[in-house]
Amino acid sequence: MKLYNTLSKKVEEFKALQEDLKQVKIYACGPTVYDYTHIGHLRKYVMDDILVRVLRHLGYEVKHVQNITDVGHLTSDSDEGEDKMEKGARKYGQTAWEVARKFEAYFWYSMDLMGVARPTLSCRATEHIQSQLEMVLDLEKKGFTYLIEDDGVYFDTAKLNSYGELSGHDPRLATRESRLGEVTGKRNPSDFALWKFEKTGEERQMVWPSPWHPRSFPGWHIECSAMSIEHLGEQLDIHTGGIDHIAVHHANEIAQSETFTGHKPFAKFWVHHNFLRVDGEKMSKSLGNFYTIDDVLKKGFTPQALRLLFLQSHYRSEQNFTWSSLQASQSAFDKLLQFYLEIKENRSSAALVDEAQAQKFTSDFFKALENDLNTAEALAVMWQMLKSDLDNTWKYRLLLEFDRVLGLGLASMTKMEQKANLELKDLSEELQELFREREQARQSKDFAKADQIRKQFAQAGYKLTDQKDTVLIESL
Ligand code: AMP
Ligand code: ZN
Repeated sequence: MKLYNTLSKKVEEFKALQEDLKQVKIYACGPTVYDYTHIGHLRKYVMDDILVRVLRHLGYEVKHVQNITDVGHLTSDSDEGEDKMEKGARKYGQTAWEVARKFEAYFWYSMDLMGVARPTLSCRATEHIQSQLEMVLDLEKKGFTYLIEDDGVYFDTAKLNSYGELSGHDPRLATRESRLGEVTGKRNPSDFALWKFEKTGEERQMVWPSPWHPRSFPGWHIECSAMSIEHLGEQLDIHTGGIDHIAVHHANEIAQSETFTGHKPFAKFWVHHNFLRVDGEKMSKSLGNFYTIDDVLKKGFTPQALRLLFLQSHYRSEQNFTWSSLQASQSAFDKLLQFYLEIKENRSSAALVDEAQAQKFTSDFFKALENDLNTAEALAVMWQMLKSDLDNTWKYRLLLEFDRVLGLGLASMTKMEQKANLELKDLSEELQELFREREQARQSKDFAKADQIRKQFAQAGYKLTDQKDTVLIESL
């Protein structure tokens, strides 16, 4: 398989560190769980999922470790500013711990809907405080750190010749003025916090004792070095993350890990995902373009349509999300499901012919994916195959085989799901009237009546599911 490596800035032939054992160790930077998972995150983790599925298809045993950042990630890449968890706690009026668990659960809920396979291991930063502390103590012993009083323990990047190799430019050359939120006392602009101390007068919710301060907490970068080494060993085959992590977070992970292990290359391949933009803009709450999977469902789209939309662009290109692009993808997905159900129904038991043609489609499909995960081209081959004159039995077999990697979940789909998410206007006038009656009952908290009407809908062949701001209508 060919894969682009940010470290060499080239598409390289992928060979695992333990190629003979056919084992691949992947570490993926996980979410910071201080707010809702949005569709930009979904794109990143769907693309990680594709990578894992392709490697498994190639016969590798993949160990996929992904962290949950539930402490220490400041609101910017600099070492000043508020901790994201504490910020989330204030915003939602809950404790930092409650916020962390709530949004971690929302992350998994979103991943499951999107058909993203769970990592082999998911690890929380707050449950690895000791290993992070031990790593910082080791770096301190090796002479790579310095202390800034009332602030924290810092990594001295001037002690490493290779710092910043990943981004292809030496961040130590950045002028002090170009780095906002600078900490006084830092020796070099690129130095970063390994461990932070609670400030006087501050009442932080997530603090631990350390040799330097009784109320302190890890810097954000150290968790990925400590947890990946603890769970996967000193060297990784692949490390993934968004492109926003290249210059700072991943540069710092490399500095920490390689200093800790005595300069063993930390990751062989660095895979970085480009961003999802919405209507050409960065996603943000203030622009009103911050969408979650629930927003997608509320508008009547299925998660599979969103997944298919992601697969239509390359992971290294920026993708621009619009509702009309999702609409087009929904139509394509509905058509695909229709194809699948038809060929499933109309399979023949006759002996299979056309084997050569089937093999050609299979080889073209996987060749595209093995070419730096060209999902768009793989989809094009899938459509060609479905429109070809191959017999239905072959089409059915191939489509299921392709979907084991595409992850659209066709195998478990039935007609019911095809007709999911009906709109009110799709119902008869009587049912529409009954639906409105039920809404009134719900508003006046007459839940007995609402349930009674729900039963009437079931008798008429429809399932109603109450969601936060809407009611999902599905046909039974
Ligand atoms: P965070 O929770 O901000 O640490 O993000 C988790 C992962 O999602 C990181 O690898 C980010 O680079 C990635 N990510 C965040 N926003 C977007 C976006 N709009 N599009 C694609 N990936 C994103
Ligand atoms: Zn990380």
